[in-house]
Amino acid sequence: MKTSVTAIKGTKDILPEEVKLWQKAETICRQVFEAYGYREIRTPIIEPTELFVKGTGETTDIVTKEMYTFTDKGGRSVTLRPEYTPSVVRAIIEHRLYLQPAPLRFYYFGPMFRHDRPQKGRYRQFHQVDIEVFGEADPALDAEILEMADYLLRRLGVSSPETLINSVGCPVCRPNYLSLLRQEAEKIKPRLCEDCQRRVELNPLRVFDCKLPGCQEQAALLPRITDYLCAACADHFAAFRSWLEFYGLNYRVEPKLVRGLDYYTRTTFEVISSGLGAQNAILGGGRYDHLMKLYGGPDICGIGFAMGMERLLTVAKLQVEEERFVYLAGWGEKAKPIGLRLCRELRRLGIHVLLEYKEKNLKALLSRANKLGAAWVIILGDQEAELGVCGLKEMKTGVQRTVSLADLGNILKRLEAPEKTLTDFNSKEEPKP
Ligand code: AMP
Repeated sequence: MKTSVTAIKGTKDILPEEVKLWQKAETICRQVFEAYGYREIRTPIIEPTELFVKGTGETTDIVTKEMYTFTDKGGRSVTLRPEYTPSVVRAIIEHRLYLQPAPLRFYYFGPMFRHDRPQKGRYRQFHQVDIEVFGEADPALDAEILEMADYLLRRLGVSSPETLINSVGCPVCRPNYLSLLRQEAEKIKPRLCEDCQRRVELNPLRVFDCKLPGCQEQAALLPRITDYLCAACADHFAAFRSWLEFYGLNYRVEPKLVRGLDYYTRTTFEVISSGLGAQNAILGGGRYDHLMKLYGGPDICGIGFAMGMERLLTVAKLQVEEERFVYLAGWGEKAKPIGLRLCRELRRLGIHVLLEYKEKNLKALLSRANKLGAAWVIILGDQEAELGVCGLKEMKTGVQRTVSLADLGNILKRLEAPEKTLTDFNSKEEPKP
């Protein structure tokens, strides 16, 4: 029986037209990150499973339910990375990058894998762009990162992104708060979903992550961590907020924003967009001041965010420049090798050339070029080839000139400037003064 193979549920193909938008978004991200002193880093997609169990956290949804984990042929448990931060921390320790002058600023693009229930805006393979900074505790940095995120989203054409912030405390103040939270959560436990009932035992902070309206209603009654911060965390949070105000950035304190991972300390944040529906976070992140040490590295603090590319691209308004290319129309026995050589030379000059090998009459070729959206057509038959010339037709004006093959590259290069047209060239193939 014939069955057709399709993409795995929760994954998707990104087809050429859409790829242009991805490339545009990636180019803008790179420009912004590099302007802020970040450098690109690339790490493997596959990592030892313990990397995530240790860092992401044993009680998190990601580790308990969502990881793509399997045993490889060497009997080792490996995982397709569900998030990026543990990998970059591993790489920093492994290559002793912490010996370089601090702060270390990195950015990264790539696929992540989480086995969650697919829905709009939630995939099993999705792509993130991440930034991380290590070695700087100043809350002004936390604000600078959000200021950069806001600028980036505006450059990407996201209208009215909303910044939510919170502080989740530190190992000094959080344990006391957690025991109070557990006590209070026990009281509302019967009214929570099954997952949240388990969370009350394992890690009551996770109750705040639940997206079910019933649980959210109940969670709103629980004590808020920002009311139980130690003096150092409260100062850090106040300074962070005043630096946000310094940058003129609008934000809202969202006490429920505890984020789904264990390693966060102090600052957490998300940027949401109303255009996204239920999965409304475009990016999220926070501080992880003890993560490097947890992995056996030096005691260096860190902060970063991850932005989902699929979600970003559903709300970003990006303009992709029209691609202008030249189409080579027609050839005979003599013209074919000359045409092929010509194409190679033009491509070496960076001119985009489309050629097709099917021989057709000129009318059919011109209509084909039109359908494909060519900006110009090179008409080259045996007769032209013998004379060392070709016809050059500009599709938008319909103007056609005979030009020598030797001059063609030069003319096309000059025609790439959007304001130039073929009427600017006289019969001697030189631009009119
Ligand atoms: P997180 O690592 O969960 O904080 O996610 C950071 C960002 O990645 C989110 O704000 C989303 O934009 C994106 N993201 C997370 N999970 C998914 C998913 N399953 N599918 C698509 N995008 C996701």
